[in-house]
Amino acid sequence: MKKFRVGILGATGMVGQRYVDLLKNHSWFEIVLVAASERSAGKTYKSAVDSKWKMEDPIPEKVGNLVVENVCNIDKIAKNVDFVFSAIGLNKEETKLLEEQYAKADIPVISNNSAHRWTPDVPMVIPEINLSHFQIIETQKKRLGTSKGFIAVKPNCSIQSYTPILAAWKKFKPTEVNVCTYQSVSGAGKTLEDWKEMQGNVIPFIEGEEEKSEREPLRILGEYIDNEIKPRADMQLSCQCIRVPVLYGHTAAVSIKFDETVSEQELIESLNDYEVDPMVLDLPSSPKKFITYFEENDRPQVLRDVNIEKGMGISVGRLREDSIFDYKFVALSHNTIRGAAGGAILSAEALAKMGYLG
Ligand code: NAP
Repeated sequence: MKKFRVGILGATGMVGQRYVDLLKNHSWFEIVLVAASERSAGKTYKSAVDSKWKMEDPIPEKVGNLVVENVCNIDKIAKNVDFVFSAIGLNKEETKLLEEQYAKADIPVISNNSAHRWTPDVPMVIPEINLSHFQIIETQKKRLGTSKGFIAVKPNCSIQSYTPILAAWKKFKPTEVNVCTYQSVSGAGKTLEDWKEMQGNVIPFIEGEEEKSEREPLRILGEYIDNEIKPRADMQLSCQCIRVPVLYGHTAAVSIKFDETVSEQELIESLNDYEVDPMVLDLPSSPKKFITYFEENDRPQVLRDVNIEKGMGISVGRLREDSIFDYKFVALSHNTIRGAAGGAILSAEALAKMGYLG
């Protein structure tokens, strides 16, 4: 099979590096282009990243030798790729404009940025939960006047651990959800070595994160009806997002109230029996088991469980009754794999399978 030619915008950053690492032996996708800011443009990828490389495996030789493009050279980039992953660290307005310019150049954009998450005709998808939302792409292409170009986005990394649990329990009608996230430093594109203030510390503020954590699950769990994505209106979330001295892995402690009466056993069974669309299960990056429920009282743990299913699985445990809400639990997901590059690659695989990438 001829591989899709892939470009990575923001390839030198934390998420960009994760794309380079995850795609090194990909059976459908081949990185042919890396792009970043003008600071990196013109250098080989190897020299642009240099001491910033954070992955365990070395830089793949072929990508290391590519010359980094400036992300602003849209026409040139568009001629050489079939689609791009976007992980640029620009502000919201600039990102919005840039991604739309790529889409209008007829290049599909699969993005980690928050800029387009609430653009009504841009799908925000976790393939195991709301695959049907990709149908809105046809409406978007009409607006943009493109035959192939569109934007699809991933939700914020903070919500990836608990939104799958809410999806598994949708039939019990969750109404109130109280979340506290404990988020790793790599979520800010940093390590503990280069963020000294975080060593042995906890910082109770992550800019913009609480609003995203409260709102985005409502869109993911919403319905695609009459060419529109309708966010859920019957559930409320309240979130506090806290930075902790962990390298990879966002943990969430959640309390939840349901409209229906439900037993602990039924909740556990719904997690274990969660059904993923067979097309998604067959994709190269799909975890074999999306949600893993741990019976042990001391799980999920970051060091033991963050890499479950190669970082694409969700771990959950400590389900028990709550004295104010109905139940409470703890969930964990890998923020740069499931929460960023890995999740976007899975979306791209689904889009390829559905024929959206040409
Ligand atoms: P990062 O490590 O700071 O990397 C930022 C990337 O954007 C670098 O490649 C950088 O290129 C490029 N860039 C910065 N300023 C630019 C400019 N003016 N013009 C063009 N390119 C520019 O950030 P990150 O953690 O990888 O995050 C990237 C995006 O993904 C952000 O929007 C973030 O919110 C989102 N995200 C991150 C995570 C996570 O876990 N880290 C999870 C989900 C989503 P240079 O090297 O040339 O400066």
